[in-house]
Amino acid sequence: MIETSHYPPLALFIDGAWIGAKGRRTHEVINPATGAPFAHLPLAEAADLDLALASADRAFRLWRHAGADQRAGVLRGAASLLRARIDAIATCAVLEQGKTLAEAKTEVLMSAALFDFYAEETRRLYGRVLVRPTGQRSMVTSEPIGPVAAFAPWNFPINNPARKLGGPIAAGCSVILKPAEEAPASAMAVVQALVDAGLPSGVVQLVFGVPDEVSRHLLASPIIRKMSFTGSTVVGRHLARLAADRTIRTTLELGGHAPVILFDDADLDRAVPLLAASKFRNAGQVCVSPTRFYVQDAIHDRFVAAMSERIGAIRPGDGLDPQSTMGPMANIRRPAAVSALVADAVAQGARLAQGGEPIGQGGYFWQPTMLTDVPATARIMQEEPFGPVIMTARFSSFDEVVEQANRLPFGLAAYAFTENGRRANLIADAIEAGMVAVNTTAIGAADAPFGGVKESGHGSEDGPEGVMACRITKAIHIA
Ligand code: NAD
Repeated sequence: MIETSHYPPLALFIDGAWIGAKGRRTHEVINPATGAPFAHLPLAEAADLDLALASADRAFRLWRHAGADQRAGVLRGAASLLRARIDAIATCAVLEQGKTLAEAKTEVLMSAALFDFYAEETRRLYGRVLVRPTGQRSMVTSEPIGPVAAFAPWNFPINNPARKLGGPIAAGCSVILKPAEEAPASAMAVVQALVDAGLPSGVVQLVFGVPDEVSRHLLASPIIRKMSFTGSTVVGRHLARLAADRTIRTTLELGGHAPVILFDDADLDRAVPLLAASKFRNAGQVCVSPTRFYVQDAIHDRFVAAMSERIGAIRPGDGLDPQSTMGPMANIRRPAAVSALVADAVAQGARLAQGGEPIGQGGYFWQPTMLTDVPATARIMQEEPFGPVIMTARFSSFDEVVEQANRLPFGLAAYAFTENGRRANLIADAIEAGMVAVNTTAIGAADAPFGGVKESGHGSEDGPEGVMACRITKAIHIA
């Protein structure tokens, strides 16, 4: 097949060397557009993880002293290589994850922008000096925290690994990354770019394995000083408990259930195209995906009509086909999960305005779907659908919608649309979320912190915060 010729032999990267299966267990990589396996991924054994830990420990002792120029040079070099290799990397991501080629290319560019930002940030790790009346100086400085264990999910197979690696590298830490076994070649390409840009051996290790085996093994080691996880709240809590046993610092980016508040003065001509693009990107498998659409009574039906028109224009298909505007869902678990949530909502009285069915056979395609007037009791109004589904509910007053928006235990992203500046400020303050976007859906940027509150996790990636999350503060008092 022409397209799989871009796909590399899959391997672990430990102590500066790519390691193939050689008798290890393997995992089948499946193309979500066909449901067919097309590659085999070696899985790390305990001895591989021990080797990775020892190598990360050695590399940290050197890398922590690497100057800002060296750290910046590697990150900037890797950013250039990612851009130069965009076609090959994006094709791998489509084959293993399903998103459209255009979306995969955007992901490569986001990762390069993040590495460039982190390169600049290496020069801005400032401290402060406190001068006492006695002449004593107290200095507040920061140091790299130590080797990091990082776990990245499958939904952004390029950018999630870039986030997990960029912060520690900029901070002066080594890192052992376990990306999702579903989408390994994308993560390998990010590591290869760093290696080719001059990253010293051992600073990054890439392991795949049985997730629970790998995380238990790494988090039991005294070498690991920080854990970073992106994924579901259930797994995040489990890993946080393992980390707590060894007092390991954590950054947790867990599930969301983003409210979208459309006030009656919203500019729907602007809001609907933005929201449709954001909702159906990556077939809805995005932690900050617009999810619960609270629409003020007077504009509810107009919104549903305009969004239906947009949904009708979406062309689901293989991500490598340039005509496709939405790929399949990434794995066999997603269509089954979304199907159950939609059926429950309809049984509870929601109206199915668009879609609601799987498409075709063989791949994991699902129709872009809109449920309207969904009761708050429906499971889909509590559980993250992580699929291409819009749910609407009507509201009449500001206080009522704030209560609805803040009702769930999640607090990752939230969106609001209004032409009233005072309302824009009030709603931004009232929503319990790590990220609020008003009159836009652009919620992530290399220089802005990305993270949630409540059961959506804690800590940030991206921005200066993403580097400082991998450093510890130290106060030095000199009389
Ligand atoms: P899951 O909870 O089984 O896995 C989520 C991720 O965690 C995967 O990448 C998996 O490899 C990893 N993982 C699972 N168990 C682990 C362990 N013990 N140690 C280390 N890593 C482990 O769920 P899933 O079926 O892949 O996705 C289900 C839900 O997860 C989605 O509906 C969504 O709510 C959430 N999710 C969130 C994000 C995000 O960006 N926040 C990304 C992917 C999935």
